[in-house]
Amino acid sequence: MRKINYIAVHCTATPQTTSIDSIRNYWKTNLKWKMPGYHFIIKPDGEIVQLLDISKVSNGVFGHNHEIINISYIGGVDKNNKAIDNRTDSQKATMLTKLKELKKQFPNAIIQGHRDFKGVKKDCPSFNAKKEYENI
Ligand SMILES: [Zn+2]
Repeated sequence: MRKINYIAVHCTATPQTTSIDSIRNYWKTNLKWKMPGYHFIIKPDGEIVQLLDISKVSNGVFGHNHEIINISYIGGVDKNNKAIDNRTDSQKATMLTKLKELKKQFPNAIIQGHRDFKGVKKDCPSFNAKKEYENI
């Protein structure tokens, strides 16, 4: 297993109705990524889907992917593409459960949002993940 220094929380910055298939297709076709953007993605109904084994490197935070696990909820923007915290209660609950599980597995990993990495000029994940999960 590689060394995990961070667990990075993301939003997909898409409508909440966006399918995981179309997100994967965008990564592959438009961005030409060989690996998915996240290890885990959480649907509005709270179902979590694993896209990549955590031993492998995904594509969530430029320059940090070797040391992080990326986890995302579907949503995070309003209809004008502006950042909004529109997580469903189910997404919040699943995210919390998964983060607790990962933190148990990687006790030294820091949980923070994509935007909390140095030099990142994004609103992702559209809420203060560092604060919300500081006591996990
Ligand atoms: Zn992100």
